Amino acid sequence: MSTGHECSFCGHKDAEGPFGELHACSRCTLRIAALAELSDSSIDNVWSKDHEAQQDDQFDAFKKGVAAVIGGDAESHLRLAKAYREMGFYRDARSALVVVLRAAPPMRLQREALDLLLTPPILMIGGASNLIRSLAQ
Ligand SMILES: [Zn+2]
Repeated sequence: MSTGHECSFCGHKDAEGPFGELHACSRCTLRIAALAELSDSSIDNVWSKDHEAQQDDQFDAFKKGVAAVIGGDAESHLRLAKAYREMGFYRDARSALVVVLRAAPPMRLQREALDLLLTPPILMIGGASNLIRSLAQ
């Protein structure tokens, strides 16, 4: 069954969305997840960096505490991602969203995760076109 939406990345006509201004097919969703878990500079023009003020040891300890109490299922990771996003921990939010994108359905959770990953503040302003370019390579 086709959704009728064209994937913004490969043109396949069975894409979900919109997520921000983007549609994504299931194959490209996994390619986005693979990019989103990178921590090198190749994605610096796609996703936002953490707020600098929040990279100190106190916050590190806090994050470890949160990770320890949260369950391992997709729903918990989605909640965790939203909490990180609120606090400006965009890299950690991304990691949690990647877990959701790779988890088994419900698709509802994956759609919500993609929406967070493909819209600001996690996505940079202008990040959408850079992401399309990155996946085209
Ligand atoms: Zn696609």
